[in-house]
Amino acid sequence: MTSQGKMPAYSIFYHRIADDHSNPWTMTRQQFKRQIDWFQEEFDLVSLTELQRRVDSGFNDRPTLAITFDDGYAENCEYALPLLIERNIPVCYFVTIENVVQQAAFPHDVEIGQELPINSLESLRSLANSGIEIGAHTRTHLDLGKVSDPGVLADEVIQASRDIEELLGKPVQYFAFPFGQRENLNHSVFSMLKEHGFLGVCSAYGGWNAIGGDSFHIQRIHGDPSFERVKNWLSFDPRIARVKPYKYERRAVRRDGQADPTKIHELAVPPLAIPAVDSSQIPTK
Ligand SMILES: [Zn+2]
Repeated sequence: MTSQGKMPAYSIFYHRIADDHSNPWTMTRQQFKRQIDWFQEEFDLVSLTELQRRVDSGFNDRPTLAITFDDGYAENCEYALPLLIERNIPVCYFVTIENVVQQAAFPHDVEIGQELPINSLESLRSLANSGIEIGAHTRTHLDLGKVSDPGVLADEVIQASRDIEELLGKPVQYFAFPFGQRENLNHSVFSMLKEHGFLGVCSAYGGWNAIGGDSFHIQRIHGDPSFERVKNWLSFDPRIARVKPYKYERRAVRRDGQADPTKIHELAVPPLAIPAVDSSQIPTK
């Protein structure tokens, strides 16, 4: 990685840390600890807000990483989250509120015969009181890329977040798209979140956050069980990678028919032909 004040800010997402019921979105305790140990040696481990501050400042010369979790699996409270709390490592924990309230397993777990337990409201309150930021991950873990009804979007995104706030007594400032691949994102949700004062929104297709670029959309990489793969992704300089951010703002078109480059969030350096992340390999949930 090169420096010169443009060191990219990374964010990583995990789902479930447990030694039982192995599946593509579960990592063992040992695998997790090894990654966290390495992160602590190599990175400033920051909150999403600090990551955004560094992106906005236009200058960053520190390896920067923000840790997040999606969905709300109960076992995360047994090892992973206590480890992060004990080490004072910031984390944003995104939960699907209907599954929490109903204590209902996710369809993607039921499909493979694993009715995995979900965090209770009590455990989330305790996490929030320990300083963990709780974020929203819709009401029912819907693929928002397939939804256009504004009423459904408002309920899944805004009202579900307000419900979390009410149930936990803490503000919800961040949102993460379920599945998080480009096809699961939705332009209207980005504007809706901005209108309602959210601080940021996370995707999961495997992207990096360019310093001086858009800080509202936080692009995350997958917390893969393979230490080498994660190390590779986090040692990679995205300024030479062909990973373009999802464009959620309509391109402003100039009179001559050319798109206004100031309205398009792209990497400033022309991409080389280096494959960064094969998103088909990301088991996002
Ligand atoms: Zn999810």
